[in-house]
Amino acid sequence: MTVPTIVLNNGVSIPQLGFGVYQIDPDETKDATLAALEIGYRHIDTAQMYGNEAGVGEAVRASGLDRAEVFVTSKLNNAFHAHDDAIKAFDESLERLGFDQLDLFLIHWPLPGIDVDFVETWKALEEIYRSGRAKSIGVSNFQPSHLRRLIQDTEIVPAVNQIEVHPYLTQDEVRSVNSEHGVATEAWSPIAQGMVLDDHAITGIAAEQGKTVAQVVLRWHIQRGDIVFPKSVTRSRIEENFDLFDFELSEGDMGLITALDKGHRTGPDPDRFNYIP
Ligand code: NAD
Repeated sequence: MTVPTIVLNNGVSIPQLGFGVYQIDPDETKDATLAALEIGYRHIDTAQMYGNEAGVGEAVRASGLDRAEVFVTSKLNNAFHAHDDAIKAFDESLERLGFDQLDLFLIHWPLPGIDVDFVETWKALEEIYRSGRAKSIGVSNFQPSHLRRLIQDTEIVPAVNQIEVHPYLTQDEVRSVNSEHGVATEAWSPIAQGMVLDDHAITGIAAEQGKTVAQVVLRWHIQRGDIVFPKSVTRSRIEENFDLFDFELSEGDMGLITALDKGHRTGPDPDRFNYIP
């Protein structure tokens, strides 16, 4: 099965389908990630905040794959927005992963309501990028106003903006601002942590296609051009979520799913989220 790749604005290619490890217990992360790599995933999404980077690194080594064959993303913990803290935290991520380079490193949250400045944080990420220790840098949970300010006040345009997207939160405005600036959209919680799986409109499409609801929703993301990385610790589901490339949704079905938008977030609102662990 060939997973399509997306070429980021700096020429780096990223597999459009990956494996997310949020809420995977650190003790289970190596096995779950290794299962994903055995099934064929070549893109893993972790974060300092998930506490499981070490398991991701162990799985990559245990897989026998070359490090260069697996695209690995991590994200800066909210506590480390100051310039020197960000650089130190990045180096600690590399240490935990056992890597000498990350494929993608993101500012996890913009934290607009507290006394940190994501523009200064971004300058630290620019230094990391220029040093070659991260092949690409990007942001997560940036609203259009945050993204515009970052682009105006700094030199490197983020390669991606990772935001919550699923059929109940289609995020058309943020996605279009991203693409206006050449920023790829990564869709987190692509199946809304399971919330969309009982939706009758999607159940009907899945029955017609002979696919599961999760597969239909993930396929919808792929056809919209976003990058996705569903999470599961169950091998059969990890397999199911990878099996998306032998069917296609019609324009009509794509439109039906997009019309389910109700602005419903499963996670925090980035304009109000100022959590420091
Ligand atoms: P998700 O939408 O991937 O849903 C995961 C849940 O759905 C799992 O717990 C599992 O119980 C269930 N599930 C998975 N596959 C299934 C299947 N085929 N059938 C039935 N149920 C299934 O939610 P998520 O984990 O929140 O998001 C995916 C990834 O996005 C995360 O692992 C993480 O890498 C990333 N993420 C990023 C942020 C951010 O702030 N940047 C926030 C949340 C998640």
